Amino acid sequence: MANQKGGVGKTTTSVNLAAALSMHGQRVLVVDLDPQGNASTALAIEHRGDVPDVYQVLVDDLPLTQIVKEVPDMPGLYCAPATIDLAGAEIELVSMVAREARLKRALTAFDSLELDYILIDCPPSLGLLTVNALVAADELLIPIQCEYYALEGLGQLLRNVDLVRVHLNQSLNLSTILLTMYDGRTRLASQVADEVRAHFGATVLNTVIPRSVRVSEAPSYGQSVITYDPGSSGAMAYKDAAREIAYRGAEV
Ligand code: ADP
Ligand code: MG
Repeated sequence: MANQKGGVGKTTTSVNLAAALSMHGQRVLVVDLDPQGNASTALAIEHRGDVPDVYQVLVDDLPLTQIVKEVPDMPGLYCAPATIDLAGAEIELVSMVAREARLKRALTAFDSLELDYILIDCPPSLGLLTVNALVAADELLIPIQCEYYALEGLGQLLRNVDLVRVHLNQSLNLSTILLTMYDGRTRLASQVADEVRAHFGATVLNTVIPRSVRVSEAPSYGQSVITYDPGSSGAMAYKDAAREIAYRGAEV
């Protein structure tokens, strides 16, 4: 999940897609690549103090197995937490060998859980952490918030994706765009949605995530919205989005 814009729903999407997929029997790892550790919080995984985290994997070569934790009460769902230490990685990686491929290397060496999906929650920047995610990934999901500035900056993201594809990861595919925080009462939201669909066609999931208070409340209980309020509009939408993604994957 990448978009250098903050607050567009990267973390919410990572956590809730992961929860939905795992509740359908898939084995899913969420890699928290944001020093703020929001995905770790939402999955109730400790990420303060000297908890071993993604920073140590990227910078100190700690094996991923040593930081991955099982998410409580969610069988098949795992999290690689981020602590605030990860903020330093952006700078420390600069001088390292194969600095863009550190995450890929760690994930390749990690096969102990027989995972079906690995979801990487990127920070709101296009720095080396996001580049590491783009190099490690086969697919890119861009969440787009249905607001006026939503498309601003998207060109820059797409140029970076092209650069990564040419130089570092040929298999990177912008497979999915997800419209988030859709407010059906405003004409603006539907205009943005139409514009995104006109531009990106079938890459855009049919499912749109509505703006819903339940979605924003869930993390404070260390839960996905899918466990916190399964019948809410946000939970239903994320379950639909997960189903679409799973069926698309099966067609490939
Ligand atoms: P990002 O990871 O891109 O910075 P977040 O997923 O953290 O974005 O979302 C930003 C804020 O918006 C969070 O407070 C989150 O709870 C809230 N939010 C995300 N999706 C929704 C939604 N569908 N409805 C209401 N609030 C949402
Ligand atoms: Mg986030």
